[in-house]
Amino acid sequence: MISHQIHLASRPIGMPTAANFKQVDVELPALKEGQVLIKNTWMSVDPYMRGRMMERKSYIPPFEIDAVMEGGAIGEVIESLNPKFPVGSKVSNISGWRTHFISDGADLTLLPAIGIPEQYFLGVIGMPGLTAWSGLMKVAKLKPTDTVFVSAASGAVGMVVCQIAKLHGCTVVASVGSEEKAELVRGLGVDAVINYKTVTNLTEALSAAAPQGIDVYFENVGGEHLEAALNVMNDYGRIPVCGMIADYNAASPIPGPSNLMMINIKKLTLQGFIVIDYFDQFDEFAAQMGQWLMEGKVKSEETVYEGLANAPEAFLGLFEGKNKGKMLVKL
Ligand code: NDP
Repeated sequence: MISHQIHLASRPIGMPTAANFKQVDVELPALKEGQVLIKNTWMSVDPYMRGRMMERKSYIPPFEIDAVMEGGAIGEVIESLNPKFPVGSKVSNISGWRTHFISDGADLTLLPAIGIPEQYFLGVIGMPGLTAWSGLMKVAKLKPTDTVFVSAASGAVGMVVCQIAKLHGCTVVASVGSEEKAELVRGLGVDAVINYKTVTNLTEALSAAAPQGIDVYFENVGGEHLEAALNVMNDYGRIPVCGMIADYNAASPIPGPSNLMMINIKKLTLQGFIVIDYFDQFDEFAAQMGQWLMEGKVKSEETVYEGLANAPEAFLGLFEGKNKGKMLVKL
């Protein structure tokens, strides 16, 4: 069996290009006792993978040059010498960026048969959904009286933040990069939307959208968004720092917000968090999210690229705002 794979060809400086990736075909050996052969059907591309393209110390090791990249994927067992994973089993795994792979089962999770499309386990009821839930519920300790501001609001994490906050009775202000995305988040029930690409002053736009001030800023973007949020936060506001995508492709250090003193003046709490620390709470999250999905209280949105060869383009599209909802590659 041939495994078609995307390898890291070189480390990018600034915005990555197609030249940083290469497709390689690898012949897989015959299965040994206890092993299964998986055919991936969906793979995820995520902003955090940009960090793994760099040689630096982080919460997760860098991708190796000339080795297959990794990431979340959904696959089907097509050959099995492991009774726990019979042929036909659907599994989530972390061996994305390839069509086929062999596993002893240790890195596989059987998908529950609860009538949810399998790719949702890479999005709304997968890692991005858990990120939204843990950031809001565990880090920010969401209250129904909160006004929540969320950046990159139409993306994989952001769209779940919008919906969980609305389900808890909060007022939600969303920032997005296009009118089409504004329509999407309005459909999720948010109270106000800012298209940050068309406003001249983000602080003024945010003040107008939330005259009562912001209690929770779910930080996905950094830069000007953080500066505006700091200006409009209420006293004792909380900022779960999920990511800062505006910084990921910077080729040289970028200036920080000029108003960090607001953290002191307004007695704010900023807390960075990484979803890995909440993996042990996945069952609690999934039980709640599964119920919301089945009751139609949470919606999913996806942007799908077809075929492994288009995975680099899908990944690069994240930094150009090409996705509405979860960016996925169908294999
Ligand atoms: P998204 O689905 O939101 O896709 C990325 C979006 O970010 C784009 O569609 C674009 O939307 C926006 N964006 C890209 N570049 C910029 C920029 N320069 N300025 C402003 N917006 C930009 O990705 P995810 O939902 O997967 O991730 C969202 C954030 O959450 C990221 O920062 C990511 O790193 C972080 N994250 C953190 C985790 C953790 O454990 N802490 C886990 C998962 C994600 P638009 O058109 O609106 O600009």
